[in-house]
Amino acid sequence: MGKEIHVSCSGHPKRKPRLIRIPFFVRKRVRARIEKEAGEAGKNLISLEDVNATKARYLESMESEIKGYQLDTCFGPSGCPNRATIGDELIAKLESLLRKEDLLGFLKQRVKCDIKFHHEFRVTVADCPNACSQPQIKDIGIIGACLPKLSIEPCSRCEACVETCREQAIILYEEQPVPNIDYRKCLGCGKCIPFCPTGTLVEGKKGYRVQVGGKLGRHPRLAREIPGIFDENQVLNIVKACIDFYKKNSISGERFAEILTEAEFLRLSRLYAAREGKD
Ligand code: SF4
Ligand code: SF4
Ligand code: SF4
Repeated sequence: MGKEIHVSCSGHPKRKPRLIRIPFFVRKRVRARIEKEAGEAGKNLISLEDVNATKARYLESMESEIKGYQLDTCFGPSGCPNRATIGDELIAKLESLLRKEDLLGFLKQRVKCDIKFHHEFRVTVADCPNACSQPQIKDIGIIGACLPKLSIEPCSRCEACVETCREQAIILYEEQPVPNIDYRKCLGCGKCIPFCPTGTLVEGKKGYRVQVGGKLGRHPRLAREIPGIFDENQVLNIVKACIDFYKKNSISGERFAEILTEAEFLRLSRLYAAREGKD
């Protein structure tokens, strides 16, 4: 893990006021750049001058930073204990797929003005349903999921699983020997599984939920979820199918969310919908 760097540009380090003045869609990148440059310079405290210098260099070279796509993750890879899946390999494969698609070349052909960050195709991976990297507002949002299932081990009726589930997806009825899991409510956080003392609840299907077609801007919309839990290869196939559709239909570089039709969403859902809640 990289060393921790503190941004010291006001009396209250958590507020990061200089970063707040940078347009929101480049703030994350500028912050990453500031921390990278400070790390390379061996600093563990960043001054206001450092922030301004990096910001100026970054905004000047914005054009060379544009690569046609943005791929990011939540803080899971830094060691977040909530991870339902470990998506590090998936990230590498997504990066490779997105690079191969030459989305910058595509945008250069289609967009009539200078290409800006807001034209880029956005993909994010969040390692659990807390969704810290905001998959709901990305072209493609990928969310790690781990579903519980019942094993043959007898249940002690301790109700630990019932109390742990924030979605009220687990109910223990008087007349039943084991709890009932409502997969329509379960988000796949996997949190209930380690709380079961008897091994009655164990890991079931593990993989990723996929949401498509989210964006912010003048006409924001939330991404919609393709039903199911998908493995890495299926996720990569869905991403490829979305890019194919985008390249075919984004005539002037419109964002994927603007052109994703109901018919295409239903086609993707039919193609990839997996058996929900089953192992
Ligand atoms: S999405 Fe989940 S795993 Fe990722 S940083 Fe947030 S809480 Fe942690
Ligand atoms: S995986 Fe999460 S949402 Fe699903 S039943 Fe367990 S605690 Fe509830
Ligand atoms: S935590 Fe395990 S033992 Fe306790 S009620 Fe749930 S399934 Fe039964």
